[in-house]
Amino acid sequence: MSDRNRREFILQGVAWGISLTGLTGCATGGSRRQSSVEPNRGLTTTKPQKETLPDAKDIDWDLLITNGNVIDGTGKGGFRGTVAVTKDRIASVLEGSANIDHSIVYVGTERYRLKPDCKVILADGACVTPGFIDVHTHNEEYLRTNPRAEIRLLQGVTSQIGGNCGESVDDIPRFYQLLGDLGINYGQLMGYRNLRRLAMGEEAEREATGREIDRMVDLLQQGLQAGSPGLSFGLEYAPQSSATGRELKKLAQTLANQKGIMATHIRSESDQLLESIDEMTEIALESGVSWQYSHVKALFQDNWDKYPAVLERISNANAKGVDLWGDMYLYDFSSWDFGTGRISISEENIQLGLAHPRIFIASDSGLYANGKVTHPRAYGNFPRMLARYVRDRQVISLEEAVAKMSNLPAQRFRISRRGKIAPGYKADLLVFRLEDVQDRAKRNKPNLLPVGMRYVFVNGQAAVMEGEPTGCRAGQPLQFNS
Ligand SMILES: [Zn+2]
Repeated sequence: MSDRNRREFILQGVAWGISLTGLTGCATGGSRRQSSVEPNRGLTTTKPQKETLPDAKDIDWDLLITNGNVIDGTGKGGFRGTVAVTKDRIASVLEGSANIDHSIVYVGTERYRLKPDCKVILADGACVTPGFIDVHTHNEEYLRTNPRAEIRLLQGVTSQIGGNCGESVDDIPRFYQLLGDLGINYGQLMGYRNLRRLAMGEEAEREATGREIDRMVDLLQQGLQAGSPGLSFGLEYAPQSSATGRELKKLAQTLANQKGIMATHIRSESDQLLESIDEMTEIALESGVSWQYSHVKALFQDNWDKYPAVLERISNANAKGVDLWGDMYLYDFSSWDFGTGRISISEENIQLGLAHPRIFIASDSGLYANGKVTHPRAYGNFPRMLARYVRDRQVISLEEAVAKMSNLPAQRFRISRRGKIAPGYKADLLVFRLEDVQDRAKRNKPNLLPVGMRYVFVNGQAAVMEGEPTGCRAGQPLQFNS
């Protein structure tokens, strides 16, 4: 592209590395600014042989990200292309390089006429990917105090699911009302601890009676109908550890009937690790429930050699027809060891886990009021995948890594229309250069923000621009397919 064309390009809105007024944080509220430039006037250029081309199609795109390395989230190879957005949806995905001449976009033999206020990002070979989806979070306190959710957005996380390990809020619809508009798309699992407390009272460290189990089933059905994706368990923790097989099977059956997900922090991740997996496998086999195995790991050095057997059990369960997926985080110590300095998770096992086709990435992040944190994973897990495992160590390809952070978690949780760059999907999009991305949070400095996410779009709105959060609160409640 000539300098002159480039300049004109830039006048359309925002070019890579150059910030103009064309792109604003949020289209809603009082902060809306229009482009200071009218791109159709006052410029002359040489146009590609107009007469040989069909008429330009008038299109209603609001945002165009051109000439990026489009990695669509499915795991297939990236391609040079253009992503067009209208309102909160992806309108079009075009392969091949695009040229823009004033308000006309040329792609191959097609021509499109942009609206005057269409914003343009020249991605110039940078990665354009779906927003990342974090299905395992403990961030309720953080979202209550920081609804803009910058700590998540700066990692490229545009959707997340809370209420994990058995701990949710009691009344999910009311919680949504309380939160108001968030910077991120959000959904919440019901927590088994909450169900037990609601059905059995505070003194719940005992076996549940038949009536109490029926009450839990009722509550679970209500929650699923109200839009929760499933039920989470933290069977290692009292009083959830008092659960009997009968109780778990009844709940799993209810989930299976209503297509809810069973997300489990299993009874033991250390000494009784394999037995704990076998317990859940039996329940999943019998009930047909979709089972999400949360934060897969073999905890403490004495158990590290069990990890290959863990992966084998996941594969075997899949082979028997169990709809089982796992998620994992990317640090060699758990939150128990945050303060001890001990390495409790094997790096070699992390890499084995990354290679398993049924395991994707989640953060297990505990973020509390005002961003207080008890583990660096809350500030760094997703950029760490890109920086450490894709770029620096080349453990996994970029396309596979993106799939494990977008389309796979979306499919697993039946999240409607997210996790993929495809027409009709919600416009949760990231623009970044792999070489710029870096997690910075460490054990001794767990709350250092990552760098490298250049643009983050949530439902078509710019939530991060030129690496800085805009304060935009364009998140939507996640919808789950039944
Ligand atoms: Zn857990």
